[in-house]
Amino acid sequence: MTFHDLQLNSAMLGAVKRVGYSEPTPIQVRAIPHILGGRDIVGCAETGSGKTAAFVLPIVQMLEPVRGKKPIRVLVLAPTRELAAQIDEEFGKFGRESSLRHAAIFGGVGQQPQVNALRRGVDIVVATPGRLQDLMNQGFIRLDKIEFFVLDEADRMLDMGFIHDVKRIIKRLPKLRQTMLFSATMPQAIQDLSRSILTDPVKVEANPQATPVESIAQSIYFVESGDKRALLKHILHDPASERVLVFTRTKHRANNLAKQLNRARIPAEAIHGNKSQTARTRALAQFKSGRTAVLVATDIAARGLDIESVTHVINFDLPNIPESYVHRIGRTARAGASGIAYSFCDVDERKYLREIEELIRKPISVVAEHPYRSAIDAPQRLAQASKAPRKNRRRRAWRSRQSSRGRSA
Ligand code: AMP
Repeated sequence: MTFHDLQLNSAMLGAVKRVGYSEPTPIQVRAIPHILGGRDIVGCAETGSGKTAAFVLPIVQMLEPVRGKKPIRVLVLAPTRELAAQIDEEFGKFGRESSLRHAAIFGGVGQQPQVNALRRGVDIVVATPGRLQDLMNQGFIRLDKIEFFVLDEADRMLDMGFIHDVKRIIKRLPKLRQTMLFSATMPQAIQDLSRSILTDPVKVEANPQATPVESIAQSIYFVESGDKRALLKHILHDPASERVLVFTRTKHRANNLAKQLNRARIPAEAIHGNKSQTARTRALAQFKSGRTAVLVATDIAARGLDIESVTHVINFDLPNIPESYVHRIGRTARAGASGIAYSFCDVDERKYLREIEELIRKPISVVAEHPYRSAIDAPQRLAQASKAPRKNRRRRAWRSRQSSRGRSA
């Protein structure tokens, strides 16, 4: 299947070529013709699947240029500022040939430049729910001419407590519009929301191009918690660790770790929700350009970040939500590339490890030889795992029920 087969016009095909995509990803193959056909879409797809271009390309193609004062005709809602900025960039990339104007609207930065952009007139707004509502309440934004509405990462909106804001915003949209909802998972609340905001939607599903579990080399380092820093430095001294995304459990630990690494002359930046938008953007730009080799992040900060060619993801702390593990390591295998994921596991994190292995349905291999190996080693761990408590079995059954529900959504 090629982009030519997806009913894209010559302007869009030219843009795709210029951007350098040689063939469409599965979500693009499945979604683009339906969107061009005017259908509502529920897309079960994660970041990394190419879902942004799956809606950006057809929307740009379908928007007719307007002369004079431009009403906002496209609204995309995203849960985080970084994701909103990235989607806005994609509109910039693919909308360059047409005279479409677009703006990203998010909090954490002054509102005046955003208000100025809105006053000049924009066709496309990509926004986080909080700032969008602020600007709506101040009368800077009207949504009564929206033709296309995209709700991106709907499940994350729910996790982050934005679902009521989202519903309030949707009430202000015209009933007659084309709606696209994307979500990595389909919990009940999102299924209910889909039913209420979509009309006869087509369901499209696609895993990220590189399914994390299969294409990422994953390993576990058993280590005492006090040795984690030394172990990280040891790994970072390997020249293969070119661009490394490190995850910690808390903002505080992310900051401390970045400081420690800098002291050890390993250029590192931390990125998390407490940092100003300017600091986050700078840290991200430094990492993307290769000036800093290490980015230390928390889960929320890293969600949806589009960072190409991360060589390693290192779980400095294992996440206590097993699904987060899959999201985290997915950062190292974007759009078909393979990657490496290392996880540090101290004695208190073994329970998280067991849950992760249950979720991905395979044991993660253990690095036997390393200088900071903790006292309890692999064979003991396997013995422990074989005595998996009944609770885990119940959880497994629950999970498989949940995921089959998700699939039928
Ligand atoms: P997304 O899931 O939209 O966040 O996209 C993940 C990454 O894949 C981004 O870096 C995109 O630029 C890239 N990408 C999207 N579509 C394609 C494609 N057809 N071929 C190669 N890369 C792509």
